[in-house]
Amino acid sequence: MRAAVLHGSGDEFKLEEVSDPEPGPGEVLIRVAAAGVCHSDIHMRLGEFDGLPPYFPWVMGHENAGYVAGLGPGACGFEVGDPVAVYGGWGCGLCRLCLSGDEQLCDRSLWAGIGRPGGYAEYVCVPSTRHLVAIGELDPMLAAPLTDAGLTPYRAVKRILPYLLPGATALVIGAGGLGQFAIQYIKLLTAARVVVLDISEPKLERAVALGADLVLDSSLPEVAKEIQSFTGNSGVAVVLDHVGSNKTLEVAASSVGPCGIIVQVGLAGGGLWFSHANLPVEALATYSWWGNRLELEEVVALARQEAIEVSVEHYPLDAINDVFRNLESGNVMGRAVLLPHPS
Ligand SMILES: [Zn+2]
Ligand SMILES: [Zn+2]
Repeated sequence: MRAAVLHGSGDEFKLEEVSDPEPGPGEVLIRVAAAGVCHSDIHMRLGEFDGLPPYFPWVMGHENAGYVAGLGPGACGFEVGDPVAVYGGWGCGLCRLCLSGDEQLCDRSLWAGIGRPGGYAEYVCVPSTRHLVAIGELDPMLAAPLTDAGLTPYRAVKRILPYLLPGATALVIGAGGLGQFAIQYIKLLTAARVVVLDISEPKLERAVALGADLVLDSSLPEVAKEIQSFTGNSGVAVVLDHVGSNKTLEVAASSVGPCGIIVQVGLAGGGLWFSHANLPVEALATYSWWGNRLELEEVVALARQEAIEVSVEHYPLDAINDVFRNLESGNVMGRAVLLPHPS
C-alpha cells in the first residue's frame, strides 16, 4: 500500500510503497477514507514533542475514519464495509485508567500514528474493534477530525460544565481546528457567554459565525483588560487555552476570576507560574488530555444530528508536505484532511 513515511526529524514525508498491514488476532483493518492533520503532528515531525521518542520509519495520522476492510481471527462486532471513526487512544485495556474508560491516559498507550502506524496511508491496522465507532451515513471526511479536533475540546468542555452557569463567561483562546469546536460545545450545552481570542481575522470571523459573543485580536497589548471589562471586572469562569504558550497562559491567568478554572488544551510548550500572587483566590489550573471512546461516540452523535458544524479542507495524501506547511503558517481555517484514496 502507499503511505506517507517520515524517516528523520525535520524531513519531508516521502510517499512510498510499504507492506500491507495484516490484522492479527482481535485486530481490524481499516481502509482509510480520511485522515485529519493535527497540530501535534507538526511538533512530532520536527522532533519537538516533549517526552516522545521518534518512531522511524514513521507513519503518523491519529484522526482516522474509513471502512472496515478485514477482521483478524476472533475480531467481532463489525462487518467488512462498515463505515467507522477510529478512536486513536489505544491503551493496554487492563489498567485502572483503561478500565475506567480513559484509555488515552494509559501510560502504556501506543496510539494510532504515535507508537503504531497511523492513517497517513491507504490502510491502518487497529488493535481492537472496541476502538471503532460506527458513523452511519456521516461522511468519513467529516468524521475523521472528530476523533481528535472534535473530541479533545469536547472532553475539556464537559469537565468544566459545572463552572459555566448562566451569566458566566468562558474565554476560548485559539479559534483554529479545536477552538471552533469548543465554541460550539459551550453554546450548545450552556447559557454562558463566550469570548474568543486569535491572531487571525478570518478565524475570528468564523468564531462570530459560530456564536462567539466577543472576539479579540490576541496580539493587542490590552487584551486581558478588555476581557475583564466585558465581565464587569469579575473575570471569566473558565479559560480553555488551545495554544498553551507562555503568552496565552499569561492572558489566561490575567483573565480568570476567583474560583475559576484554566484548562490548557494546546501543546505549545508554555508554562504558568502557579502562586497565590499570580492567580485569583481558589482559581484552578489543569490540563485536558484528548478524550475517551465514549466521548467520541457522543461527538459523533452530535455530528450525525447536525448539531455541530465540522469545517474541513481536503487534499490527496500526496499533498501532505504542502498541507503541513499551510498548517504551520496558520493558513488552514478548519481542519485539513488527507484522502489516501482520492477518487
Ligand atoms: Zn492530535
Ligand atoms: Zn491501560
